[in-house]
Amino acid sequence: MAQVEGSSLVAQSIQREGIETLFGLAGGPIQDIMGFGPHFGVRPIGVRHEQAAAFAATAYGFVKNEVGVAVLAAGPAVSNGVTGAHVAFDNCLPLVILGGSGAQKGRYTGTFQETDNVPMYRGITKMAVQVDSTARIPEYMAMAFRKARTGRPGPVYIDLPSDVLQNEVDEESVNWPTNYYTDAPSPGNPDQVKRAAELLLNAERPMMIIGKGVRWSEPTAELRQLVETLGMPYVTSPMGRGFIPDDHPMNFAAARSAIMSNADVVLIVGSRLNWMFGFGRQFPADAKIIHIDIEAEEIGSNRPVEVGIVGDAKAVLQQILAEMEGKTAGLAERAEEGPWLTALRERVESNAQSIQSRLTSDANPIITHRLLHEVSQVFPRDTIYTVDGQTTLATGRQVLQSYTPASRLNSGSNGCMGVGVPFAVGAKLARPEVPVVSVNGDCAFGFNAMEMETAVRHKVPIVFIINNNSGIVGGALESRMGLPEGYGERVATYVPDIRYDRILEAFGGHTENVTEPSELRPALERAFQATKEGKVACVNVMSEHMEVMPTRDGRAGALMGYDR
Ligand code: ADP
Repeated sequence: MAQVEGSSLVAQSIQREGIETLFGLAGGPIQDIMGFGPHFGVRPIGVRHEQAAAFAATAYGFVKNEVGVAVLAAGPAVSNGVTGAHVAFDNCLPLVILGGSGAQKGRYTGTFQETDNVPMYRGITKMAVQVDSTARIPEYMAMAFRKARTGRPGPVYIDLPSDVLQNEVDEESVNWPTNYYTDAPSPGNPDQVKRAAELLLNAERPMMIIGKGVRWSEPTAELRQLVETLGMPYVTSPMGRGFIPDDHPMNFAAARSAIMSNADVVLIVGSRLNWMFGFGRQFPADAKIIHIDIEAEEIGSNRPVEVGIVGDAKAVLQQILAEMEGKTAGLAERAEEGPWLTALRERVESNAQSIQSRLTSDANPIITHRLLHEVSQVFPRDTIYTVDGQTTLATGRQVLQSYTPASRLNSGSNGCMGVGVPFAVGAKLARPEVPVVSVNGDCAFGFNAMEMETAVRHKVPIVFIINNNSGIVGGALESRMGLPEGYGERVATYVPDIRYDRILEAFGGHTENVTEPSELRPALERAFQATKEGKVACVNVMSEHMEVMPTRDGRAGALMGYDR
């Protein structure tokens, strides 16, 4: 009877899930999963650090609307993936991490890279388990995909001992789970839906917050219909952008502070009231909160809710729209002329004016607003941006627009630096047909810069841009903390004028080094053209050192026109 190896069962499980790409760094005992991959139509992408494997897989899953898969060898390779699991967990993104470990039969004898991996992953995954036998691999894999994907998405860790992977079992003895998901939509409680509709219909100053939880059922038409029929302004979280195009007239991101401080009814869809939205404390005390989330436990955290609806964003929005049918005549027109939108528009206008001169500034060194403005002018609407850093991240929020679903990825809920480069690799592999641009501060870029080599080797044409302001917070540490002169510089300022473009030159690719504002656009255009010809491009931009003074809680503070 035909025998089948454990590693082959893993690769087949990935294929059966419909996943075409996995990310990993080949090493024992998982390298055979990468080896079997192509036999089952699963393309293995070999990265340069396991953290990047988990990041790239997470981005791939987010952009493609499926589960990302990362395979990590053993010992340090598995611990290197921990930050990836943390990012996926904190951002509620589906990821399956397959980690290798020593043979079961040699447990506790000090085998090579023997580590107790499961507890390492337990606090930062939806499930962390070790597979106990080769024949059960498909069962564990189905469990992992189901848990990662359904309910609130998140990461799952599956530990694969070397003998479980290398053992062979009789093919006919393998039980392949089928129909291990339900695709039934999760509607909300009808009474709560009714109350939500009433509140929205009667609101004087309604607003909506859209978060990245809308990615999975992608209720783009419903979100749009809601804001347009009610004349309801909205803001998004950083990764919740693009599900309604950013240039929609009801997008009031540029008046975020004004809108949040004055709304009387707040509809939250697929987002949490965590630090990103000031724990909901910025809303007026008597504002009525309607929260839609797939995870019941989330509703009511940090801020009392008037209406909490447990369910899928799309299903619940459809219910609310149905409940409103026939009751919305004239609402949008009234809102358009009313004091709420008028006041917000004035705020948007004054904030826009306050940064206008920076967008076109000829200052040298180049300032971040100018750099990102040029980026926004060169790349088309369907571009996927990965944005990482501090000044770059904060300014990117203002200047870079997103117009299509899941086209904006950044440091996310746990503010993880280093995601920009590997996120871009995952994103481009998920949607090779659209341009992918990775804009990184120099510190953030440094974390995973070697992944440019991964992009070159696997022919993944991305434009990598480095906003090179020579360090993190420059000398700000000195003045703020009363430290002796030079201290801050050593801690947080890098060797000046580093030519990061030369890293890509070593791998082979199109490189640009920009020192003059007027050189920005042609350099970006050449880089974009190079990616159309299949090359990876790197644009190193020498920029202003001291643009942002971070506040004590780590947020980027003194940015012009930054409406909090
Ligand atoms: P953001 O950082 O974009 O504001 P968060 O990561 O804070 O987003 O929150 C995403 C929320 O979306 C989570 O609370 C998660 O439970 C929720 N969510 C995930 N999938 C769905 C879905 N299909 N429908 C509704 N909510 C969802």
